[in-house]
Amino acid sequence: MEIRSAKYLISSPKVELCPPADKPEYAFIGRSNVGKSSLINMLTNQSKLAKTSASPGKTQMINHFLINDDWYIVDLPGYGYAKVSQQQRANWQKMISGYLKERSNLVTVFVLIDSRLKPQQLDLDFLAQLGEWGIPFNMIFTKADKSTQREAHQNMRRFIEKMKEEWEFIPRSFMTSAVKFLGRKEILGYIEELNEDWGKEESE
Ligand code: GDP
Repeated sequence: MEIRSAKYLISSPKVELCPPADKPEYAFIGRSNVGKSSLINMLTNQSKLAKTSASPGKTQMINHFLINDDWYIVDLPGYGYAKVSQQQRANWQKMISGYLKERSNLVTVFVLIDSRLKPQQLDLDFLAQLGEWGIPFNMIFTKADKSTQREAHQNMRRFIEKMKEEWEFIPRSFMTSAVKFLGRKEILGYIEELNEDWGKEESE
């Protein structure tokens, strides 16, 4: 899929204030510093669309971007910040669960995982939570250029092996590098396929 336009729309503190749920929507989430902003900028081919410098825990908002006037990218605040208060954590939980459970046009959640790390319990716990809520997701492994291809793929395999202890079906995953534009074509192609299905469901 070609990206013809990508615009920042709005930041919403709760799901009720999000734009009309009239287009397919893809949410991106992961631990702080996992490379989420860089990935969104890489996918949209805009160096400054998602802000890479947001201070941890501060931007507790649901951020909507309109792509090709046709679908939404949603940048969700990450989890796993060390320095947030209990109150901020509770607010995050409430906003994220409200959004994930109630957003009717949410097609899939892309959960970002650092390909340099061994399987992290925090990431596995977040996926388990999505499973409990019955929310579709895919995994995106980030920063593939930071280690050897072998290491990155080994960590991805390990993560999937861990998932198999809990999951019967393992969703599709992607290996990416925002620096090398790795995985861009695959993710955009996948979104394009899902967008087509969404259109079909709507017209039935
Ligand atoms: P966020 O907090 O999840 O939005 O993460 P950012 O996109 O701000 O990235 C965190 C840090 O990792 C920044 O210093 C980025 O430059 C770096 N980074 C993100 N993605 C990549 C990547 O694919 N390759 C490399 N080498 N660095 C990356």
